[in-house]
Amino acid sequence: PADVETLGRSTWTLLHSIAATYPTRPTPAEQSDLRTFMGVFSRLYPCWVCAEDFQDYMRRERVRVGSRDEFGMWLCEAHNAVNVKLGKDIFDCSKWEERWRTGWKD
Ligand code: FAD
Repeated sequence: PADVETLGRSTWTLLHSIAATYPTRPTPAEQSDLRTFMGVFSRLYPCWVCAEDFQDYMRRERVRVGSRDEFGMWLCEAHNAVNVKLGKDIFDCSKWEERWRTGWKD
């Protein structure tokens, strides 16, 4: 399997890209799909210690799928929880869309 860092970077890219393209007003079916995807993702993620901690996180902080903003912020906070655990810098969540959807201004 890919090493934990390469896997992590690629996976965050996928997850934040899903947030960036998630509808601003998702239908009930779209909300259900995302909720199901995140639950299954947290069980299949192929770094088992990471997956266990992420499942614990999702039990404490229920995934929010009501809109792009809601999910984008939830995911940013979830990523920050991993950043804290690993001693990395906290990301400013007011900038998640600039980073992952619209592109940095400079
Ligand atoms: P990454 O954390 O991979 O981030 C990539 C880019 O995302 C950054 O360069 C930055 O531009 C942006 N970014 C950073 N923070 C945020 C944020 N909060 N919101 C939006 N964008 C942001 N590794 C372990 O060693 N142990 C673990 O338990 C572990 N658990 C993980 C759980 C999950 C669900 C995932 C997806 C990954 C996990 N990882 C874990 C991997 C770890 O999070 C990193 O991906 C890896 O260490 C590489 O880090 P990086 O510094 O390249 O940046």
